[in-house]
Amino acid sequence: MRHKIPCFCDNTFTVDVPEEINLDEQPQYVEDILSGIFMNFTCTSCGKKHKPEFPLTVHWPSKRVSLEVIPELERGSFYRRKEEEDAVKETVIGYPELAERVAALKSDLVPEALEAIKYYLLVKADETYPEEDISVWFQNKSGDSLEFHIHGIKQDEVAVMKVPAALYEKTLTDFKKNPKTDPFGSLRVKTYLSIQNILRPDELK
Ligand SMILES: [Zn+2]
Repeated sequence: MRHKIPCFCDNTFTVDVPEEINLDEQPQYVEDILSGIFMNFTCTSCGKKHKPEFPLTVHWPSKRVSLEVIPELERGSFYRRKEEEDAVKETVIGYPELAERVAALKSDLVPEALEAIKYYLLVKADETYPEEDISVWFQNKSGDSLEFHIHGIKQDEVAVMKVPAALYEKTLTDFKKNPKTDPFGSLRVKTYLSIQNILRPDELK
């Protein structure tokens, strides 16, 4: 689909973006999504980099998932919509969440367990830094640990937190045993699994 991108330099340029991609057929997209260069565009006049978000469906048959990607700016529309577009799909909101989910699936990790660990890390960070606006993101799994990035403790700095794989396994066991208990029970709203469902402001409830 063709979209017009307006630039601050008064130039408007047109880009052609896919509405659906398949990560098994186009594996280069996996790396593009993880590295943050997916759907980056350069203004044809001034050279400024633009990172717009367009709605998209990401199929990954080998991971048995299709992701409905909603732009961050349309987050509210997910909570307001009545009909399920397609109950088979999982929803992610914003490209950073897409990158995080692709990283999880690439390592064959269960998103419910990761979101629960993010919740525990966030609660701890909030106790230590109650004034800051903190967010926690799963990054990758390497060897015996899972790496999370904590944003917002210091401006323009990312804190790296390594969590032992054993804690992930314990969290996964807890989730399988008690999927309805908190925080697991509060992590999902319909097709959308995210710590954001716990953190969302009242007007989105
Ligand atoms: Zn420009």
